[in-house]
Amino acid sequence: MIKYNLVCRKCELTFDSWFASSKEYDKLKKQKLINCHSCGSLKVEKNLMAPKLIGESFKHKNEKKDLIKYQKIKKTLNEYQKFIKKNFDYVGENFAYEARSIHYNNKKKNKGIYGTASKQDLKELKEEGIDAQMVPWFEKENN
Ligand SMILES: [Zn+2]
Repeated sequence: MIKYNLVCRKCELTFDSWFASSKEYDKLKKQKLINCHSCGSLKVEKNLMAPKLIGESFKHKNEKKDLIKYQKIKKTLNEYQKFIKKNFDYVGENFAYEARSIHYNNKKKNKGIYGTASKQDLKELKEEGIDAQMVPWFEKENN
């Protein structure tokens, strides 16, 4: 058995119909035995709604959604970066050193610090009880 979605060219009705095989459909069509359920017209054809096309449009939609999601995240991170730049001192690659000097020398700073540190640095800082957070970072050039 095979199911076809049929469309009436006269009244635009679409309906599903079962046939023994595609050959059976061709035979019935030739003998004018397929007619519209609604208006009885013989101008009934297989509805050529290619599933592939539907799939493509779905895929496209999802990509668009992902892009919007990505842009939202990027915007949030940009705001986060602005906040950090405004409220923290940039120490570049001296981050681990500066973090330690604040921690051990009890250096009072109005601002926190941010900079780059290796994963190893962060691990060591953590072991020494120094609070350091990793944040995802977009370089301005990539915007
Ligand atoms: Zn019809």
